[in-house]
Amino acid sequence: MKSCGRRTDPQSKPVRRGKKKILLIPKEVVLYQLVRGNENVSSAKQRKELAERIREVIADKYDEPKRRKVRPPLDQLVQGVLWRYTVVKSGIRSFRSLKRHFVDWNELRVSTVVEIASAMSTAAWAYECAGHLKQIMQALFNLRNVVKMDFLDDFTQSEARTFLRSLQGVTRDLADEVLLFNYGTGKIPLSDHASRMCFRMGLIEKTTTILKNQRALAEVLDEDYHVGFTLFLHDHARDVCCEKKPKHANCPMQKLCPKVGVDD
Ligand code: SF4
Repeated sequence: MKSCGRRTDPQSKPVRRGKKKILLIPKEVVLYQLVRGNENVSSAKQRKELAERIREVIADKYDEPKRRKVRPPLDQLVQGVLWRYTVVKSGIRSFRSLKRHFVDWNELRVSTVVEIASAMSTAAWAYECAGHLKQIMQALFNLRNVVKMDFLDDFTQSEARTFLRSLQGVTRDLADEVLLFNYGTGKIPLSDHASRMCFRMGLIEKTTTILKNQRALAEVLDEDYHVGFTLFLHDHARDVCCEKKPKHANCPMQKLCPKVGVDD
């Protein structure tokens, strides 16, 4: 993205007030200068404005449906694992295939990795994902002697998070995602990929903790948009806003994103 200097901007007009000259600069340019100049958007108000514009750009595809179906927590966990290997649509298709193929998640636990993989997709990621799912089901069985998680409904948020994190194969962001989708906890799940993309978009700081970044996002993103924004990150953070050579041309944020910290 080219730099937008004050003096060269054709829409900037000097205005006299008393003895001072004030430049009227378009809103987009101000926003852009803020994020480029400070390597971060400096206040919650400015980040909120940016977040709202991001929402406008991606609303059609990722605005949360008004009557989103809340799945049982273990179903949501399975869906969350799938989304860590493939894009949202493909993950939903694979989830449905698994539900059709296995009577319940215990049957998946006792099946072979090859059988689980072939039940959900022929894509290369399926084998690794199948091993991941089997590992979680086994960890759950070892702890509770059943392969269900409905008891989470009776837990506090913090108890539920602690339990989820105690399962081998459940990362912090995966646990946060189950809590967000099922209980609306107000914390956007932040994997390394999601954090990187949010930082480049100027929504969070890179140097602070995940919890502080989650709070910063919660300040600027309306709660009814947390799920939609999470799905957007699933589709773009890992494969489009890659660590090296991000594919700006394939990104819906291309025109709006300040690309904080990106060299090319
Ligand atoms: S425009 Fe580029 S840097 Fe910005 S979010 Fe998209 S891929 Fe990442």
